[in-house]
Parts: sequence; structure tokens; C-alpha cells
Amino acid sequence: MCGIVGYTGTKQAYPIIIKGLKRLEYRGYDSTGVALLNSGLKVFKKKGKVAELEETLVGEDLHGFAGIGHTRWATHGEPNDQNAHPHQSSSGKLAMIHNGIIENYASLKKELISKGYNFTSDTDSEVLLNFIEEIKTKNNCDLEEAIRIALKRVVGAYVILLIDEDNPGTIIAARKGSPLVIGIGKNEHFLGSDASPMLEYTKEVVYVNDYELAIVKPNELILKNLGNEILTPFVQKLDIELAAIEKGGFDYFMLKEIYEQPTTIFDCLRGRLDVENGTIQMAGVQDNLDKLINANRIIILACGTSWHAGLIAEYIFEELCRTSVEVEYASEFRYRNPIIIPGDVIIAISQSGETADTLVAIENAKEKGAFIFGIVNVVGSSIARTSHAGAYTHAGSEIGVASTKAFTAQLAVLTMVALKIAKEKNTISNERYRSCLNELNDVPVKVSKILESNDLIKSIAEKYKNFTNFLYLGRGYNFPIALEGALKLKEISYIHASGYPAAEMKHGPIALVDDSLPVVFIATKDSNIEKTISNMQEIKARKGKIISIITENDESAISVSNELIAVPAADEIVAPMLNVIPLQLLAYYIGIAKGCDVDKPRNLAKSVTVE
Ligand code: GLU
Repeated sequence: MCGIVGYTGTKQAYPIIIKGLKRLEYRGYDSTGVALLNSGLKVFKKKGKVAELEETLVGEDLHGFAGIGHTRWATHGEPNDQNAHPHQSSSGKLAMIHNGIIENYASLKKELISKGYNFTSDTDSEVLLNFIEEIKTKNNCDLEEAIRIALKRVVGAYVILLIDEDNPGTIIAARKGSPLVIGIGKNEHFLGSDASPMLEYTKEVVYVNDYELAIVKPNELILKNLGNEILTPFVQKLDIELAAIEKGGFDYFMLKEIYEQPTTIFDCLRGRLDVENGTIQMAGVQDNLDKLINANRIIILACGTSWHAGLIAEYIFEELCRTSVEVEYASEFRYRNPIIIPGDVIIAISQSGETADTLVAIENAKEKGAFIFGIVNVVGSSIARTSHAGAYTHAGSEIGVASTKAFTAQLAVLTMVALKIAKEKNTISNERYRSCLNELNDVPVKVSKILESNDLIKSIAEKYKNFTNFLYLGRGYNFPIALEGALKLKEISYIHASGYPAAEMKHGPIALVDDSLPVVFIATKDSNIEKTISNMQEIKARKGKIISIITENDESAISVSNELIAVPAADEIVAPMLNVIPLQLLAYYIGIAKGCDVDKPRNLAKSVTVE
């Protein structure tokens, strides 16, 4: 994972790099480092977040018109000062930052040790750097050539940025499997894991592809493949504004993003959902209707929160489209030998569009003849580019590591895709179709209404913050919401929480129930509500504490609950988009009450670009 930034141009590189790293901290924050080229190469690095490094550098000479910076999410070697990037080569002349994993680093390291190399860190990255230096020395070639030769022997994923003391002003970058964007300015270039570090300087960017190498100078950007052939960079215009990636008065990005949901869901529906005319405009679906309608089955591939959105989609697609659906963890699917036949449709869901496991899983499925439909948030991301077709979620930059607004936008997109297919396939009555369109249209307003329960949820969080285990239960469409609620709590507050289908509780988890176990029930009025109430009775009889998400004016759960949070009534197809909101707030306020950094929970990173 990790965030990388580079700058070469006419401005001072350090402030640009530090600011960029702060924006990329969602990708990792174990340690931070910067390398600057001034008169010579200077490397500063330290365990901890970007602000901690910045504090220690007050008073240092930080001049330099070119530099690279890194915020790490450790894969090889613990988070400490030595393992922080940038690494310096044995000669001290080269500095490199790396995002990814070099899988064959152990054998390369052995080879280098036998040639007399010493290592100062435990990282795979330092091995690659010295491997490049060894090739450069042995072959007496330039750095670019050495990188090309080295990368042919490397197994794994990487974005690397290198600077060379003997060649100030030039950054050489290469990518395979991790994201890299280059921003084009006037007499300057910016490099980043995403476009956020360059937003206030340029809107013109190039997304570097796998197996490409970029030689970046203030006035020149040369893009090549690993065969040394020159490529024409494809320059795209960004349409994100800086304000969209700032906190806007909220204490944390996570809270800002929770509160943005009425707008992000609205933005996701806008221009697509036309209630008056009863239509859904989605070019990615419209242009591929035959494939989607005639699919043998749909396989949904995702990880984490996106996988929960996939589970809900399974219920929606099966009910509305009568298509058989399987939902798979991409990380499992890619290492199996799954049976895929032409006619299978894969829906890949990923906020970042860079999730390594999902990306490789769809590449494998594509080779086997499946049609790939991507649902991602980040425009131009690797999954977007690898898919045959797709739909963006248009939720805007999501910075908080725990996904909130991207999840509800994924659900909005998935629901629209299902409704459009069902309509074309004729598996939905006109009346139900129309009513679902209206229900979808009402979601943003209903989400705003739920956000009014903020203070109530905050007080419940205060009351329950010291419990050490939580259980989340729900049935049908609310079962994946139970999983998502539990995941949010784990991520943000480090409290252990499990989600289960409410009926499964009797097959094990009920053994945990006593007065020290809060149980969060998603008990909104749906076709299973009576059964859910029975499960609540079973918990109450064993003295569990019940926190219930209920439908406004529905009294059935009141007597069995210790705490009640009401949400507006909704069709069960759209209810997950509403029911998750109180659970996001509950996790947020418990995390805050426990003093956790909710935007950057320990050990996590937002965009999981390693396997
Ligand atoms: N594998 C490298 C390390 O552990 C890079 C990890 C990252 O992408 O941050 O240092």
C-alpha cells in the first residue's frame, strides 16, 4: 500500500512533498521519509506519521528542487526508522521509495550478500534498490537501463521512484500492480499514488500503466515500456476540486464522509435515475445489455466493505433479475481454480479501483472469457481500466480509512444496475419497478433524517464504549449490514465484534450472551421482522444488552430493546443504505470516546494494493 510523492521543477520540493504525503496518509502511516536533491542527496526518515517527521525537521536545510517522499504501510520489516523509506543504495548515491512487495527479494538478497552487499533494513525494497545499483555498476550502464534490467527479474508488485545524486532533477519511476499518476505542470512534474498531491498545481495528469517506466525532468516526461520503446503519454484532465479532499470543518474525514452521504448518494443517482420517465441511464449497462441479461450467472468479486455491498447485491439481483449470483472474496477466488465459462459476468467492486486481489482476480477471469463489469469510485483506476464496462460510484475522494460513503454509493449503483437489468429482462412488474425507483430517489432525504439522530447515537456510544465484545445481528438484506456494522466497530475502535445472520446465533454465538455483551440488532420492518423479534427475545432472556435499529413508528422491538435508533420506513431493497448509517455513527463515536484516531486506525490502510 503506502503513499508515494515526487516532485521535480522550479519550486522547493519539500513543502510540496510533505503536503502530498499528508493527503496520502490514508494509504499507510507506519513511517515517513523524504529524500531531497540539493548539493548532494539528503534523506530524512522516521517511524510515525508525516507530522511527526515534519516536527523533527524544523531547522534542517530542506532545500532542493527535486525530491521523493513516502508514507509506509509495512509489509517486510517492522515499522521503525531503519525500515522507513526512502532507502539509500550501498554507494549512498541512489535513493528509492517503493510501494508494493518484491516477492523474490529473499533470493535476490542472498545473491547480493554473496557479492558483499550489506543491508541496513529488513525491507524487500532495499534489496531491489541494491539490485539495481549492482546492475548499474556491473554493466556500466545508466540508471534507466539498470532499472529496466532489474525489473525483468523482479517478481511482485511495485511502484518505484528513484533519484540519483549524479543526475539531479531527474526522477525515474516504474510501475507494475500499484498506482502511479504523473501531474504535468509548467516546467515541473509531480508524481503521486493518486492525484491528490498535485491537485492545486495542475489538472493535467498521466496514469502510468503496468510495465511502463517514466523518466521525469522539470521540462520533459518520457514514457517507455520495459523494452525501451518510447510511448506517447495519454494526458487526461482531472475533474476533482481541492475542497473535495479537505475536512471542511469536521474533526475527522470519517465524520465528514458520513455526513456527505445524502449528497454522494444523490450525486450517484443524478443523471441516471429518472423517476418521471421511469428510466435508468447507465451507458455501461445499456451498451452491454445482451451480456448482462443473458448471463449464466453473476460472480461478484470484492474485499472488505465492498464485499458486504456485494452480498446485498446478491439478494437484490436474485430477487429482481432472477439471475444466480455468487459473491466471492477476491483474495480466495484468485488462488482457487474457479470454473468460469463464457457467459459468466463478473462484477468487481472496489472503492479505490486498485485493490490488488480484486484486480488480479478479474484479470484471471477475463482471460477465461468472463465479461467484467467494474464498480469503482476512483476514475481512471486500474480496475476501471481493466474492466470491459462499468459504472463509477461518484462518491468523491474517500479519505477516512473506514469506508462509509463509498459503501452507500456502491449500493446505489448496484441497485440501479439490478433494476435496469430486471426491467429489460422483464423479471420485475412495472408497479414494483416504479416503486423501487421512487424508493431509491427518496434515499438521500431519508439519510439526512437519520443523521439527525447524531446526538442520540453519540450518547449510546458513550454508554457502551467500555464493553469489549459486540454482536451484530440481522436477517435478509440486513445480514450484510450486521457484518458491515461489526467491521466498522472493529476497524475504528479496536473492539472485537462479530456479525451474524440473526438465525445463526443459535448455532454458536448465543453461548457468548450475558449481561456483558451488547447485541446490535438491525430490526427494521421487513418480511422477516417477526422472526428477528423472536431472536431478540432469546438474547433478552439471557440478559444481553440490545441496541436496536428499528423503523420509525414500529413498536414491535421497543419492549425488548435497551436502546432504540429509528430510521425512516423504506423498501427492503434500499433499506441497507439507510440502516448502515446509525452503525457508522455508532462505530465512529465509540472510536472517538476511546481516543482512537478514527481516520487512521492502527495497522490499516485504505487502498489495499498488496495481496
Ligand atoms: N514492501 C515495502 C516495505 O515493507 C513497501 C511497503 C509499502 O507499500 O508501503 O517497506
